[in-house]
Amino acid sequence: MYINYQESLFEIIFTTAVEMLGVAYEAAADFAQVVLSKITGFIFRFDHVPNQLILKDVAYDGERFIATWESVSTQADCPVCGKTSQKEHSSYKYGEMVQDVGIARLPLWHCIYRKRYICTNDHCICVKFMETFPGFVEMRYSRMTVNFVDHVLDTAVNTSSVAAAKILNSQGAEISANTVTRAILRRGASQVEKNFYDNAGDVEKIGIDDINLRKGDSSTSCMVLVNLETKKLLGILRGTTGDTAQQALAMFPNLKIVSRDRGTAMASAANALGKKSVADRFHITANMHEAIERTLHEMLPKSMYIPVGNAWFCISNDTESGQTVLTEIPASLTEEDIKKRVRMANLSSQAERKYRDTLRVLELTAQGKYAEEISGITGIPVDKVRSLRSGMRETASAVEKKIDEFMADPRSNVKKQKSVTTSAQHSSKSKVEPYRDTVEAMLKEGKSHWAIHEELCKQGFVGSHSTVDNYIIKLGRENGVYREIEEDRSAANDYFVPLPERPQRISVRIYSAKTVYNRVLARIRDHRDAKNGEHEGSEAEPSDHALDSKKKSSAIPASNRMNLPLNLVDVLNWRDPDPLESKKPKDADIESSVDSLIGSMYPVFGHMIQFGIDYHNFMDNNNVAGLHEFIEKYKGDSCWRLAKFAKGLQMDIDAVTNTLLYPDISNGVVEGMNNAVKCDKRVCGGRAKVDLLTARTVLRQLPEPSGADAKTA
Ligand SMILES: [Zn+2]
Repeated sequence: MYINYQESLFEIIFTTAVEMLGVAYEAAADFAQVVLSKITGFIFRFDHVPNQLILKDVAYDGERFIATWESVSTQADCPVCGKTSQKEHSSYKYGEMVQDVGIARLPLWHCIYRKRYICTNDHCICVKFMETFPGFVEMRYSRMTVNFVDHVLDTAVNTSSVAAAKILNSQGAEISANTVTRAILRRGASQVEKNFYDNAGDVEKIGIDDINLRKGDSSTSCMVLVNLETKKLLGILRGTTGDTAQQALAMFPNLKIVSRDRGTAMASAANALGKKSVADRFHITANMHEAIERTLHEMLPKSMYIPVGNAWFCISNDTESGQTVLTEIPASLTEEDIKKRVRMANLSSQAERKYRDTLRVLELTAQGKYAEEISGITGIPVDKVRSLRSGMRETASAVEKKIDEFMADPRSNVKKQKSVTTSAQHSSKSKVEPYRDTVEAMLKEGKSHWAIHEELCKQGFVGSHSTVDNYIIKLGRENGVYREIEEDRSAANDYFVPLPERPQRISVRIYSAKTVYNRVLARIRDHRDAKNGEHEGSEAEPSDHALDSKKKSSAIPASNRMNLPLNLVDVLNWRDPDPLESKKPKDADIESSVDSLIGSMYPVFGHMIQFGIDYHNFMDNNNVAGLHEFIEKYKGDSCWRLAKFAKGLQMDIDAVTNTLLYPDISNGVVEGMNNAVKCDKRVCGGRAKVDLLTARTVLRQLPEPSGADAKTA
């Protein structure tokens, strides 16, 4: 199917003009030509085609539109020297196909007959050249119009080249993925060139960082340069050696400040060029956290067993400061208390022994004793100590659960009718037999087996209460007094009349070095929050927006967000906290008592908190004198990692000082750029090389409106 719109339309207009208006043939032909080109231009939106080109024909060959153009230009600029030439090479015109943005999902091609000119500049190496059309077809061998390239790039920078080619083809273009890639590379390279040569003088602040394109593969390491003022990528360079960095930075004559992470290659490059380098706040803080975390991992046992519950501690309220003060840690449970718990939980003698042993082991563990020492003190075998210790949490919570059940229904213990197997020995063979008279007498009095057991113990009986209990059941069976005994059993809880108060809950928490690390960070943050609160409280007006001001004080100010401990970037905490759900004071007591207990067991805990607080004291206030004090204080620290951190600051003292002097400079933009680049690489199926990634990133940052302006202009 071949349709030539041009010819059929020309026919219609021409005949109409001749027949209806009676125009002469020649004038009618001219008229038809002009009207035709205007209509076609309107339909196909040819307004971006320069005036030197005359539309000869538009045809549809069943797959694409083809517009034929002929150049009527009288002059052209030499592509090498730029000199305008009016000397045509010959009258022969070369028809070449150039693709444009498709119409109605069909491809549109221009067949352009161009002229050749001769360069009139004697010093130019160019002899003859093909004319080009700025804004339309800008290069000699270009097979795409400028509009089409823009369209391709708009699509391509937001997806992979392969996907972009698919999308474009479905929208009426004839293009391959490779062509898309080449278009990106060409446009991107010219932009990077502008960044490094034409506009290099505008750059004053640079953020520099290295990334590995393949994880853990240093052969793919690249250097990312970002203009910190415009927040735009300048370029990605292969290699991260000091030489590369130095060469790259030397390209920018007006460069004043280089922000970098703590890599030594970058540091030496910046120093060699005499630029001010700023160590990134984020990385220093990250290093500080790392020092704390590793120290804790080295100095703390794998798991720490912390008894929790008010029963363990004597907490008194200091009336002067209004604060809860822990006076004694850890207090052990009294014998009376343990006895009460055992009775309430209705533990068997075996379970009771385990519970008591567990409590003892827990107490000694909380004093910082090792399994061997505990074994020596208590006489429990080491293996048993270990197994008790690892099961502490379960043992303690099981007893608490049983006590809860008892409190909910005190008679539940009784309902569980205890039975003795039929194969059991006769009562006369029991250990309790010598005390038979006492037992029978007490049963008649209506005493419970608990009471009987206690009485027998006073008389010298050695054995558990369940032995006594079993004996009583056997007696009942053998003598037919079962009913009486059952009644007696229901009176068992007379022991607890009146119903006692619920004993304090106790539980065991198992902490790893990691959780302790989180607690350290939390304490450091609390300290900083408190400081910020004081600071803001002094200037805050006493308004009715008490809640608002509280919220404000607890939020970390925007300027210091970079220092936020990474593990604590808790999305929930950044929201407005529900006032009802705010910390219950009791929990706070427990939490603070846990902290003091950890602190007393492991002094390194407090040491780390102090370290963090000292760090933030100078970092948050950008206090240079504080930095020097900090280094002096910690460079000989007993924890070698802290000392190493302090010495690291000292070695990099200029850059770290600059960090404090230029608080608004940060490498955050560069880190974000790294993320974008890595994400882009994955979009491209993970195969994109440095140049393509650079081109894509740079193109994506180009201001959007410029393309739109060009189209409307
Ligand atoms: Zn020339």
